[in-house]
Amino acid sequence: MSKAAEAENPVDIAAGRLSAAQYAENFSDVAPPLDRNSAVTEANRCLFCFDAPCIEACLTSIDIPVFIKKISTDNVKGAATTILSANIMGGSCSRVCPVEELCEEACVRNTQSGQPIKIGQLQRYATDHLYSRKDAQVFTRKPATGKKIAIVGAGPAGLSCAHGLAREGHNVTIFEARPKAGGLNEYGIAAYKVAGNFAQRETDFILAIGGIEIKNGQALGQQITLSQLRKDYDAVFLGMGMKGVNALGLEAENLQGVENAVDYIEKLRQAKDLGKLPVGRHVVVIGGGNTAIDIAIQTKRLGAEYVTLVYRRGAGEMSATHHEQEFAQTNGVTIKHWAQPKKLIGFQGHVTGVEFEYTQLDANGKLMGTGDTFSIPADMVFKAIGQTFVATPLKEQGRDLLQLTKKGRIAVNEDGQTSLPGVWAGGDCTEGQDLTVAAVEDGKIAAIAINRALKEKK
Ligand code: SF4
Repeated sequence: MSKAAEAENPVDIAAGRLSAAQYAENFSDVAPPLDRNSAVTEANRCLFCFDAPCIEACLTSIDIPVFIKKISTDNVKGAATTILSANIMGGSCSRVCPVEELCEEACVRNTQSGQPIKIGQLQRYATDHLYSRKDAQVFTRKPATGKKIAIVGAGPAGLSCAHGLAREGHNVTIFEARPKAGGLNEYGIAAYKVAGNFAQRETDFILAIGGIEIKNGQALGQQITLSQLRKDYDAVFLGMGMKGVNALGLEAENLQGVENAVDYIEKLRQAKDLGKLPVGRHVVVIGGGNTAIDIAIQTKRLGAEYVTLVYRRGAGEMSATHHEQEFAQTNGVTIKHWAQPKKLIGFQGHVTGVEFEYTQLDANGKLMGTGDTFSIPADMVFKAIGQTFVATPLKEQGRDLLQLTKKGRIAVNEDGQTSLPGVWAGGDCTEGQDLTVAAVEDGKIAAIAINRALKEKK
């Protein structure tokens, strides 16, 4: 933009900042799969530990030494079967799990050689191999029980629960508000982590067992109600995730160019042509979690020239892992710590910058502004300060149908059972770690509990 044009309209948001080849490269697989030789060599580094700490650290308790042993003997289909038996979404978890804080952190090879076994990459090698085979179906469905279960939400928790119940011979109907299944894997994870149509391939694999029907465009509290589902089905599982987004609480938050990071990521994930997706030249991201990192890297990879992520506390307090923070910085994202947004600056209804105030901890460890400020130019500002569970669909005739926790999520016991008989819940709508792998485990545990309850009822 020329200086004169800039003075007239300082906002610079444009599509097509890069060539088609650059978009393809920037959004291709960030961690390409291992080939056979590398996978076997890596598998042979494993010590196949008795009481393996890596299994303990895996939220779905995958028998890691067993699947790695199978890879080392070229039984790759067997390795994938071991993985998927414990975690039906082992393919996407191999791409998105923070393994450096889970199984790989626990690996004894860290102390032995300073390098853990590449468990995530081996898991991906095995599951990708299975999905490429014509005889990929490794599960069989038990004889039909005639029982019907309703699941709300086709994200990782819902799909995991559905697969577990379908294997037991039950008929499952998933009610999903969006046009596609997959939840965060389809709509929310950075495109370069779950590249191509992998999320859809994984969903297809899960559905291929049979006995699962997905009804799209069905939102709880709108097209369907919990009371009706309880009447029509033998059991209900709620796995509808978090739909609310936290606001900054600033004036002028409705200026054009101020967006929720999750909404833009969804647009990006569903874009047929990334070259048609407009992005600012100056981008500011506010937040400290993985969503903040994902939007910052993706806007940079869409061609934004300056991307600054601002977080109100220090690097150690960010919920994004150290690995993710480093990845953002190596992708050209500037991370500024200890600053909070004070004012959105606008020009003719559009955001043009953000004023921040430096922060520090007072003597009691409470975060406070220092009074010193600075501004960053911005054509686009992304809010990534957390999501909330919207409980309104669980209210009928002014009453909460089931008990919520103090944090406003659905209260469940260790089996995922809610306070309402016949209703289970899991994933982000309940408390726990906001990770795909945790949601898959919730769905798996609830399926076991629902199956047991239905048998006892009989
Ligand atoms: Fe293999 Fe490491 Fe697990 Fe031991 S802890 S079984 S070396 S992956």
